[in-house]
Amino acid sequence: MINSMNRLREHFGTLFAFVFFALAFSGIPAVAQRVALRDPAEPAQGKPQPRVWARPARGVARQAVDEKSMRALIGKLVACGTRLTLSSWTDSKRGIGCGRDVIVARFNEIAKDSGGRLQVVVDKFESTSERTSGKPMPLESVYAILPGSDPKLAKTVFIVSGHFDSRPSNVMDPEADAPGADDDASGVAVSVECARLLSKAGVSRRGTYRATILFAAVSGEEQGLLGSTHLLEWAKQQGYAVGGMLDDDIVGADSAAGAPHRVRLFSGNGEIDDADSPSRELARAVEEIDGRAAIRMIFRVDRYGRGGDHYPFYKAGLPAVRFTEPLEDYRHQHQTLRTENGIEYGDFERYLNFTFMGDVAWDNAEALRQLALSPAPPKNAKLAGAVTPDARLSWSAEDDAERVGFEILWRETTDPRWQVYDFAASPGETVLKGVSTDNHFFAARAVGKNGARSIAVPTEMERRPPPLPTPGKQ
Ligand SMILES: [Zn+2]
Repeated sequence: MINSMNRLREHFGTLFAFVFFALAFSGIPAVAQRVALRDPAEPAQGKPQPRVWARPARGVARQAVDEKSMRALIGKLVACGTRLTLSSWTDSKRGIGCGRDVIVARFNEIAKDSGGRLQVVVDKFESTSERTSGKPMPLESVYAILPGSDPKLAKTVFIVSGHFDSRPSNVMDPEADAPGADDDASGVAVSVECARLLSKAGVSRRGTYRATILFAAVSGEEQGLLGSTHLLEWAKQQGYAVGGMLDDDIVGADSAAGAPHRVRLFSGNGEIDDADSPSRELARAVEEIDGRAAIRMIFRVDRYGRGGDHYPFYKAGLPAVRFTEPLEDYRHQHQTLRTENGIEYGDFERYLNFTFMGDVAWDNAEALRQLALSPAPPKNAKLAGAVTPDARLSWSAEDDAERVGFEILWRETTDPRWQVYDFAASPGETVLKGVSTDNHFFAARAVGKNGARSIAVPTEMERRPPPLPTPGKQ
C-alpha cells in the first residue's frame, strides 16, 4: 500500500513537473506538448547541424534616436491647424501645404548632414476618389531617397512611410482643426527620423546599403490611400522593385500602464492556403531583426474596419506591413476637437509617448538597415517529392559575390515562425533526406557575408502529377 502510494505520488510529482515546465516555458497546454513528443523523429537520423552566420550587429544605438527632433517635427505639423488633403496647398501657415513645407525643410536639413547622399523629391500628382467628390484633386508627397551602392540591388527599394494628411470627424471638411499628432504626424516623424539615423554622414559609409531606401511622407491617406497608391506607381515608373514597405500609422501613443509596450505589426495572409504572403515574410523578417520583445506580430492585414497605406502594396502581392501602437484610443483619432459629457475628443500632441515612438523609430531603422544590407531573396522556390520519402527543394538566384549561401527554413504547419533546417552554398536543388513534404512548410532565404538575411521565400509545390499509387500500399 505504502509502495503504491509512493508510486502514485511519484507519478503525480512527475506529472506536476511536466505540466509546470510545459506551462512555464511554452505557454502551450501540456497535452499538446505530449502529443508532439510522440511524433516520429523527422528525419529519422536527426536534423543537420548547419553553420548559422551571425546577424549584423545592431547598427543604430537607441540613444542615437532623437526624440526631441521628432517632437519638434510633430509640433510644427500640428501648428498647421489642419492637414486635410482637401485644404490649401499654397497657404504657408494653415493647411496641408504648410505640412508639406515643414517636412521638406526637415528632410533638407537631414540631406545636408548626409553629405549630399540623401535626395529630397516632392512628387506632385492628381487623384480622384469618392472622398474628393469624384473630382481630380492636386496632391503632393515628399520622399527622401538614399540610393543603394550595389549596381544589382540599387533598383530594389525598401520604403518606410507615414502620412502627413490629417482629418476631423468629417473627412470632407477642410476648415475644421485636425491636429493629427498621432494620426499620423507620429508615422511621419518615424519615417523622417529613420532618414536621419540611416543617412548621417559617418553612420553609412559608402557601400553600406546595397539596396535603396526611400523615406516617405505621403498625403491623401484619409481620402482613400491616394498617396500610397501613387507611391507604388511612382516607384514602378522609376524602375524600382519594392523589396519591402513599412507603413507607420498611429505609432505615437502608448497610454496603458507599463509602457513602453511592443508595437503591433500587421501583415495580411495573402490568398494562399499556407498564409505565407510576402507581407507575412516581411513581418517575420522584421521580428527576427528587432526581436520578439519589440515586435508583436499580428497575422491580419489591418485592424477591423480600418485601412492603411501598406494596403495597395499588399494587394499588389508585395511585402508590406503596418506598424501601429499597442492600444488605440478612438477618442483621439479622426475626431473634431470638442468636449462632450466631460470627455475630450481630439488627436493632440499631449497624448503621445515619445519613449515608445523612439522605440518604433529605432526598430524601423534597424529593419530597413538590415534589409538594405541583405542579398536579393531567392526566386522560384519549389517543393517536389510528394509521395516519396524525401522532400526536394529548389530555387534560383543570380550570382552575388557578397552572398555566402542560403538557409533552408522549415516550420510545423501550426507554427508562426521559421526555423533553420539546413544551409546550402548554392542555388539549385537540395534533397532533404527522410523529410516528408507534408508535415512542414518550407522556405529559402539568402544570407550575405555580412550576416544579413533576405526575406524568406516559401516554396510552392511543383504541379506535377504524382506517380500512381501502388495498389494496397497507400
Ligand atoms: Zn492614419
